[in-house]
Amino acid sequence: ATDPVTVTVTGAAGNIGYATLFRVAAGEMLGADRPVRLRLLEIPSSLEAAEGTALELQDGAFPLLESVDVFDDPVRAFDGVQAGLLIGSRPRGPGMERSELLEANGAIFSAQGAAINAGAAEDVRVVVVGNPANTNALIAASHAPDVPLERFTALTRLDHHRAVAQLALATGSPVGSVRRVSIWGNHSASQVPDVDHAEIGGRPALEVLAEHGRGRAWIDEEFIPRVARRGAEIIEVRGGSSVASAAHAAICHMRDWVRGTPEGDWTSMAVPSDGSHGVQEGLISSFPVTCAAGRYDINHEVKLGDDVENRLRASVRELAEEREAVRSRGLL
Ligand code: NDP
Repeated sequence: ATDPVTVTVTGAAGNIGYATLFRVAAGEMLGADRPVRLRLLEIPSSLEAAEGTALELQDGAFPLLESVDVFDDPVRAFDGVQAGLLIGSRPRGPGMERSELLEANGAIFSAQGAAINAGAAEDVRVVVVGNPANTNALIAASHAPDVPLERFTALTRLDHHRAVAQLALATGSPVGSVRRVSIWGNHSASQVPDVDHAEIGGRPALEVLAEHGRGRAWIDEEFIPRVARRGAEIIEVRGGSSVASAAHAAICHMRDWVRGTPEGDWTSMAVPSDGSHGVQEGLISSFPVTCAAGRYDINHEVKLGDDVENRLRASVRELAEEREAVRSRGLL
């Protein structure tokens, strides 16, 4: 496995982009035997900062890094792309209306979708990190009619990691002993962290939690809100939004998609629904997925508990509303 892989990173000069690039160059995403060609996309005002990042990437003297190129033109940036990390998006500015945000991101992700359609390699895989990630992924996909829909995904891996970490903390267990956690729905406050099928040390997580005095009330009143609002907690405590943990999640998302999930476990990814679990076909929703041989499969075995089911319906309603909002603006 020595053919180089072309990786395009957008928002390359931003915080998450910066934290992502060096790890990709070090082989942590695609493997220690996989050379990479990095293509960095930035908006014109941040182009110089991206050029500076490219200089630092050179200074890493990464043996796997074949080339680094910087662009402000999406068509050129996505030429030949095999792994697309769509990180840059328009942040909500002070006093900015939701409609303005949708318009701004609609323009960004429709142009990038079209560029991917025009130039992507046959095996392209895309993960959208920039928020609202699920809907931005939908916009990009809708402008790439020649690329199979399932190649467009959005990041819920950070939510997944947060849920795993909270279960480990609550039970005093090693993080590595927590498996089969699921995140359902939208990457927003309406997301649905699900521990019904989770295991800790090979035993049902619900049983282990109960031994630590944590029952349904803990799940509903502490665990779920904690995971769903962790982004806000990080901003409060750290004085800035999560960066390295988001970059790590994006790398893990692409790594597992390409190289597979561990035997006996699954992960969470927001992927186009095929109607599974009652999620309207075509919406990009988070599901538990198993990855093998370079593809992901939505887990159809897990049955939704009543509470998870109700929460998922609400999150899917929100996704459908977001889709309607961008559709009515002609962005799909
Ligand atoms: P960050 O690198 O910190 O964040 C980038 C995006 O990731 C934001 O939309 C952010 O959403 C999102 N995100 C998703 N999940 C998380 C999470 N769990 N925690 C934190 N963020 C998350 O933003 P910066 O402002 O530092 O950098 C953005 C860069 O993108 C800038 O350099 C800008 O120039 C560039 N840009 C590039 C474009 C392009 O390449 N065409 C287009 C637009 C911007 P949220 O805002 O909700 O935190």
